[in-house]
Amino acid sequence: MAIEGGCFCGAVRYRADEHTDSVAHCHCQHCRASTGATLMTWVEVPRAAFEWIAGEPASYRHESDWKTAITRRFCADCGTSLTYERDASDWLDVAAGSLDDPGAVAPAHHVYHASRIGWLEIDDQLPRHDRGYPGSQ
Ligand SMILES: [Zn+2]
Ligand SMILES: [Zn+2]
Repeated sequence: MAIEGGCFCGAVRYRADEHTDSVAHCHCQHCRASTGATLMTWVEVPRAAFEWIAGEPASYRHESDWKTAITRRFCADCGTSLTYERDASDWLDVAAGSLDDPGAVAPAHHVYHASRIGWLEIDDQLPRHDRGYPGSQ
């Protein structure tokens, strides 16, 4: 199913013709630090199915405990976090909160659960992975 979304001010818009079932609540410190949110929910999409359809996002690159660097893209005007991309990956992640209809995707698991904030209580039954999703690369 296609998903579409964009930033708070409307300058930057994207579309993905399909997405995977890997929708993750990420509790990692990098997602916190880069967004200011206590957790980020990401929808994995094939890179080939994704395109920017309006505006041009700004980007910030950083190292991680993955083998390759990360590029995070966001709106330069209003600051909305939009995507998380790992170099040399065939997938990228779209910030679920930036979707026009976030309710259309279903969270599947928690990643970096070991890094979650202590007061954040979770009562869903989704799998919780201490670090990244097993099998992701
Ligand atoms: Zn914006
Ligand atoms: Zn994260």
